[in-house]
Amino acid sequence: MKLSEMALNVKESSTLSITAMAKQLSEQGADLAAFTAGEPDFDTPEHIKKAAIDATNSGFTKYTPSSGTVDLRKAICAKLKKDNSLSYEPNQIVVSNGAKHSLSNIFLSILNKNDEVIIPAPFWLSYPEMVHIAGGKSIIVHTSSENGFKLTVTELEKAYTKNTKALILNSPNNPTGAVYSKEELEQIAEFAIKNDIIVIADEIYENLVYSGIQHISIASLSEEIFKRTIIVNGFSKGYAMTGWRLGYTASSKEIADAMGNIQSHMTSNPNSMAQKGAVAALMGDQASVENMRVEFEKRRNYIYDRAKNIPLLSCNKPDGAFYLFIDVSGLLNDSLKSAKDIADVLLKEYSVVVVPCADFGFPNHIRLSYAISMEDITKGMDRIEKFVSEKY
Ligand code: PMP
Ligand code: GLU
Repeated sequence: MKLSEMALNVKESSTLSITAMAKQLSEQGADLAAFTAGEPDFDTPEHIKKAAIDATNSGFTKYTPSSGTVDLRKAICAKLKKDNSLSYEPNQIVVSNGAKHSLSNIFLSILNKNDEVIIPAPFWLSYPEMVHIAGGKSIIVHTSSENGFKLTVTELEKAYTKNTKALILNSPNNPTGAVYSKEELEQIAEFAIKNDIIVIADEIYENLVYSGIQHISIASLSEEIFKRTIIVNGFSKGYAMTGWRLGYTASSKEIADAMGNIQSHMTSNPNSMAQKGAVAALMGDQASVENMRVEFEKRRNYIYDRAKNIPLLSCNKPDGAFYLFIDVSGLLNDSLKSAKDIADVLLKEYSVVVVPCADFGFPNHIRLSYAISMEDITKGMDRIEKFVSEKY
């Protein structure tokens, strides 16, 4: 049997496979400190679960409109107005099976063969794979730690060609935790408008920002940039709903119609009961979101202080999301040649699981998710400290 060229060139998601491996080892009794999961360790808030249970019990268990219920799309419009000062109509919203699915719909809707998508590195590892699946070409732009791993217009100018169709902007960022300021977004917006490119603004970590920093949506900066932005967001991170599989886009009606048509053939609507839960998430009390954010901020402060005091490691203080992105170049030698080798030793000899970041475009870095308990973070950092003191 011969597989398609496309399938032959798609790699498995290493974040998902490493997370699954860590879960399996823990279930078998291993005492791991697993900094892998890109998912909150909190339970989904009670009122959200109750809304989905009530929906199930009352028979809300049938197909819904393919792009999501009108109730949910209205609730998303209200949220975008309240939190981001953005005015959308429900027919500009498409609700999908997770933000990952939303992103896949976007690339399938806007890319033709040879169309290029600028992806700032480090990047969430699924972006280039999704662009490839949709037949487009990823143009990877390496950002620098000196600039907080944020894309500059000079870097954009170098990457731009006549085939550039879109740019991905992920703020707050996975894996660096970088959050773009208003001024930085203004410069990128100006570039996008001048060169007529689409901005895909992945804002899935918008609720998770620290030290009083505000998340700003690039679409809110002017009418011109609003028209060329596709917002991607979802319920996985802010509401601790990873398993519910709900994400959404907000875009021009033209793009929303195209994504809706594609989705209507490929998956139909996202889960009906989950959509009722999502309405409760957006319309209900937001206290649980803030409580989780406060807890993540405590963990961010702790893990960053620990990491910066370990010799030979270097990292920036993340302003958002729940990841610490660590440069391990100082640990590389003839036997440990890459971050992957470091990750292997940490797992085999110290029972610590980290994500080596070659798939994120930075082979000398590792990512630590602090979406795990303070106890596990402490245990894991003790072990990483021990590894460095014993081996170097
Ligand atoms: N964007 C980013 C940057 C992410 O880290 C994730 C996490 N999986 C997603 C999108 C997709 O999230 P989900 O499919 O769970 O909504
Ligand atoms: N986004 C999370 C991560 O980066 C979840 C896993 C995935 O979908 O990649 O770990």
